[in-house]
Amino acid sequence: MGKKRFGISIDSKISAELNNIASSLNINRSKIVEMALQNYITEYKHLLSRHSCRGIIIIKNVNNISFDKILENYRNIIVNYIHSHMEDECVCIMFVSGDSEHINNLNKHLITCGCLTRYIPTHQNQSST
Ligand SMILES: [Zn+2]
Ligand SMILES: [Zn+2]
Repeated sequence: MGKKRFGISIDSKISAELNNIASSLNINRSKIVEMALQNYITEYKHLLSRHSCRGIIIIKNVNNISFDKILENYRNIIVNYIHSHMEDECVCIMFVSGDSEHINNLNKHLITCGCLTRYIPTHQNQSST
């Protein structure tokens, strides 16, 4: 696939940070913007339509809730999980696979319980089947 060139305007602070990252990682700015956009598109495309989805949910368990019931209720989509305590922080990673709406429900459930979550789909393109 070819490259497309276009001009954009961004906040000067963000631009300075981009320059810093580019020089410390020794990667050109276009590549960094391309990678950032790719991640952004992958995460948002996932919300657009119902599909068969795979990914990981990173959870910071701020209120120290028990995951037992959640693991039980969503066992059809939770493939595996890691639960770890670092210093006084409770952190959990759930590996999920299944209907994207069920995964979104699980994510919303965790947020409702006060957890901070980040969902990262691991599939590249959503299948339209
Ligand atoms: Zn997805
Ligand atoms: Zn814990």
